[in-house]
Amino acid sequence: MTSRERASLEIDGIVQGVGFRPFVYRLALRFGLSGWVRNTGKGVQIEAEGDGNDLLAFSHALREEAPPLAVIGSLKFEKITTAGGEGFVILDSAKAGKGGEISPDCDVCDDCLAELFEPGNRRYLYPFINCTNCGPRYSIITGIPYDRPATTMAGFAMCDDCLAEYHDPLHRRFHAQPNACPVCGPRLSLYDREGVAVTGDPLRQTIEALKEGAIVAVKGVGGYHLAVDACSEAAIGLLRRRKKRDEKPFAMLAADLDSVRRYVHCSDLEGRLLAGVERPIVLTRKRLQTPIAELVAPGNGWFGFMLPGNPLQHLLARGFGRPLVMTSGNLSDEPIAYRDDEALRMLSGIADLFLTNDREIHMRTDDSVIRLYRGEPLFLRRSRGYVPRALALPGEQASVLALGAELKATLCLTRGPQGFMSQHIGDLKNAATMSSLEESAGHLQRLLEITPDVVAHDLHPDYLSTVYGQGLGLPCIAVQHHHAHMASCMAENGLDGDVIGVVLDGTGYGSDGTIWGGEFLVGGYKSFQRRGYLAQMRMPGGDAAVKEPYRMALSALYRLHGDELFRQPLAVCDEVQEADRSLFLKMLEKGINAPLTSSCGRLFDAVSALLGVRHRISYEGQAAIELEALAETGSASEPYPYVVTGEGGEVLDFGPTIAAICADLAADRSCSNIARAFHRTVAAGIVEMCGRIRTGRGLDRVVLSGGVFQNRLLTEDVAERLAAEEFRVYCHRLVPPNDGGLALGQAVIAGNLFRRQ
Ligand SMILES: [Zn+2]
Ligand SMILES: [Zn+2]
Ligand SMILES: [Zn+2]
Repeated sequence: MTSRERASLEIDGIVQGVGFRPFVYRLALRFGLSGWVRNTGKGVQIEAEGDGNDLLAFSHALREEAPPLAVIGSLKFEKITTAGGEGFVILDSAKAGKGGEISPDCDVCDDCLAELFEPGNRRYLYPFINCTNCGPRYSIITGIPYDRPATTMAGFAMCDDCLAEYHDPLHRRFHAQPNACPVCGPRLSLYDREGVAVTGDPLRQTIEALKEGAIVAVKGVGGYHLAVDACSEAAIGLLRRRKKRDEKPFAMLAADLDSVRRYVHCSDLEGRLLAGVERPIVLTRKRLQTPIAELVAPGNGWFGFMLPGNPLQHLLARGFGRPLVMTSGNLSDEPIAYRDDEALRMLSGIADLFLTNDREIHMRTDDSVIRLYRGEPLFLRRSRGYVPRALALPGEQASVLALGAELKATLCLTRGPQGFMSQHIGDLKNAATMSSLEESAGHLQRLLEITPDVVAHDLHPDYLSTVYGQGLGLPCIAVQHHHAHMASCMAENGLDGDVIGVVLDGTGYGSDGTIWGGEFLVGGYKSFQRRGYLAQMRMPGGDAAVKEPYRMALSALYRLHGDELFRQPLAVCDEVQEADRSLFLKMLEKGINAPLTSSCGRLFDAVSALLGVRHRISYEGQAAIELEALAETGSASEPYPYVVTGEGGEVLDFGPTIAAICADLAADRSCSNIARAFHRTVAAGIVEMCGRIRTGRGLDRVVLSGGVFQNRLLTEDVAERLAAEEFRVYCHRLVPPNDGGLALGQAVIAGNLFRRQ
C-alpha cells in the first residue's frame, strides 16, 4: 500500500491530433486517478494524482498503449505536491486563444456496447445509444457552445429517465448532449425506392433483404452508405452497374477483428487502427482463399475493412453474420449523400431500400482510409473520426483559410499554433462538391470561432477553389502546388529551415505555367527553388491522357523514336488506329493539345500501359496502383539505366529506362519483374538527385510528399536508400501525401508569409 501522490508529466512528439487526450482521459479513469490533461505548444501536459503504484502503471501505459498514430518523443515524469480534487478532466489547450475544440464522431464505447446487447436493458438493440464517452459529435453539431440545442438532437425532448441521467453528475450520461432512448430519441425507418414505408421491424427487414442480395442505402453518422452482401458476385455486380463504378475497390464492414482476420492478413498495428474509436477503413492484404466476391476489389491485392463505427453498424454487422460491402452513398464523383430527401433522389436508381432515421446529419463526413507502410500508418483519406482534431503547427502564425487544390479537396483553418483540417470533400469538378466545400468552410469557421486573416489557394487560376477564395474579400496568397505538398510534410513533422522536397504526383500548376508533378524542390515555408524535375513528356490529348494511360506510353516512346513511333513492335501501338496515327504524331510533334508535363504519375501511367497492365482507367490512380500490385509479385533486380541531364544536372530522365523496358518486353521477360525493376529505377533516380542537391547545398533533410508516395513499394525503397546515404527522411503521418493533405501546407506557407498591414 502506497500513499497518495501527484505527478506532472510532459510528453512531446506527435501527440496532438491523434486522439491522445481522450486516451489519457480513459487511462486515468482506469487507474482511478484525478487531475487533468491539456495540449501545450510542444505536446501534452498531464497532472495526475492517486495511488503511487497506479501513477507508475499509468505512466508506463501512456507509452505502451498510446494511440496508433501517436509517436512519443520524450516523457518527463516528476513528482509534485498533492492537490486533492476529484475526477479527471480534459482542459482547453494552453495557447488555443479563443474558441474551444470540437470532438470528432466516435464509435460506441464498451459500456454502451454492453448495454446495446443486454436483454432487458432499456436501450437493448437501440441503434442510437451513446454517452459522454462516445457517439456522434462533429456531424450533428450545428453551432456553439456544444449543447443539445446546438445539435441536430434539438428537436428530441428527453424523457424523464434520460433527463435523470443527464442531470446526474455520477452518471455516464451526465451532460451527454446526444443522450436518447427508444422512448424519446430518434428511430429507424425503412423505405422502398419510391419512398413508401416498409412495414415490420426495419432492422430485421433490412438484414433479410441483404441476405437476398438487395442493395440498401443505410444512413450512418456522416452520410449514407450503400450496403450489400460482400460474398455475392451477383449483388456486387448489380451495385457496380447501378453506381457506374466499374473497378474501384469497395470497402467492407465486418462485425469484429476476428472475422476480419478470416479474410485478410492483419498485423497488430492494423488491428489497433481498425479497433480504434475513430473506426477508419484500413487496407489489409487479402488472403488467397476467400469467400469474398472477386468483384469487391478486382485486380487488387488488398481489401479495405472497417469495424462498426456506430451502434446501427454493430447491429447490422452482427445480424448479417458475414462482411457487408459498405461504400459511400454517392454517384461517381459526387459528394456522399447525407440529407434524407437528397439521398432518396440521388440513390433511388441504385438502392432497393433505404434504412434511415429521423436524426439529421449536419455535416457530411466520409470514412477515413489508412494503409500501413514502413510499419507505420499512412492516411489515404483523413475524415470521419479524426476531423476536426487540431494538428500542432510548427509555430504561431497568422490565421489562414486554406482551400486545397482540386482533387480530394479538404480545407484547413488555423488558429495560433493549431491547424484544423476539414473532412474529405471530394473532387471539385461539379457544383455539388463545390458547395460542400463552401458549407464546410463556413461551418468550421463558426464552430472553431476562427476569423481568418488571409486566404491561401492553389496557383492554378481556374480551379474552382481558387475562384471561390478570390471572391471572399480577404487578402489572398496563391501557393504553388508542390511547394504546398512539401510544406505540408514539413509542418506535420514540425520542421523549420530549409529542406529538400521530393514531390511526386499527378498534376499541379507550375510557376512557369507548365504542368509539374515530378519535382525536386529546395526551400522552406516562405520560399522555394525548383532544383530539379523529371524530363518533360507531352500529354497527348491533355486531360484525355490522364484517363487513357496508353497515350502516355506512346508519348514516352515518341521521345525515343520520333516519327518511327508506330513501327515499334509493341501492343500499346495498336491502341491508335492506322487512320489516326498521323494526327496523333502531329499532336506530339507540334504540341497541339499536348501540354508538357514533368509528372511522375504520368510516367507510372506510361509504364503501366507499356506493360499492358492498364491502357484505360476507370478511377484515379488505377494504372499506377495495378502496376504496383504487379511489381509486388516480381523479384527485385538491378535498376534500369536512366540519365541526369540539363545544364545544372536538373533533369532526371527515364528515357533509357523506357528503352530498356521495351527491350525486356521484346525478350519476353516477365512483366512483374519489369514492373519491380522500374520501381527500383525510380527510387535510384530520386536518391541520386537528392545526392546532387546535397552536394550543392549541404542539406540532408528530405521530405517525401505527393500522391505517388501512396505507393508503398516505391516509398519504402526510396526511404531506405536515402537513409543508407545518411539523409534524414520525413514522410507523412497525420495527413495524406496526396492532395487531401495539401491545404495544411498552403496554410502554413500563407501563415508564415502574411503580415498584417
Ligand atoms: Zn458510451
Ligand atoms: Zn429517453
Ligand atoms: Zn498534388
